[in-house]
Amino acid sequence: MNDDPADELRALIRTIPDFPKPGIQFRDITTLLLSPTGLATCIERMVAVADGPVDLVAGVEARGFLFAAALAIPLNAGVLLIRKDGKLPGATIAEDYALEYGRDRIAIHADACAPGARVLLVDDLIATGGTARAAVRLLRKAGATVMQAQFVIDLPDLGGADLLRADGIGVSSLVAYPGH
Ligand code: AMP
Repeated sequence: MNDDPADELRALIRTIPDFPKPGIQFRDITTLLLSPTGLATCIERMVAVADGPVDLVAGVEARGFLFAAALAIPLNAGVLLIRKDGKLPGATIAEDYALEYGRDRIAIHADACAPGARVLLVDDLIATGGTARAAVRLLRKAGATVMQAQFVIDLPDLGGADLLRADGIGVSSLVAYPGH
């Protein structure tokens, strides 16, 4: 008898070893998206743990866009796209963050959120937290109040969710995988 609700999602997520480089277990949500119930189940569970009303759901390029857009509908919120720098057509503000090798940069339109806007941050997965923490810094720089961060997948041993909590953000996820 199996009563962990996360198992239903875990069964839809494929693990590809050694992608994009040796030693990484890539948690592939494309198989979850192919399922007729996968995305709906995620959104239903994300709505259930949403911590109060928000004005915007911010998704991180690219997989985060899917969950942010779907979640914004039942939450009656707008969608804010956090993109890789250089992709947005209007005036932007950007934030750098460290990768294992080198740096990356994410951006939002400078006028994307009104000061004090309540924002829910969403991505498919949190690992080291580098991406999500940069997104929080960026949103705060824009004057937003980041209410919560939600992820489909957490890799808790990599510590990102704890770092995000230390930044003052409530974090929830639907499925956790030990290791990396
Ligand atoms: P991090 O900044 O280390 O928390 O990494 C999170 C970002 O990288 C997310 O946008 C994920 O989509 C992607 N990512 C990191 N590790 C993995 C993994 N093992 N499987 C799938 N995606 C990953």
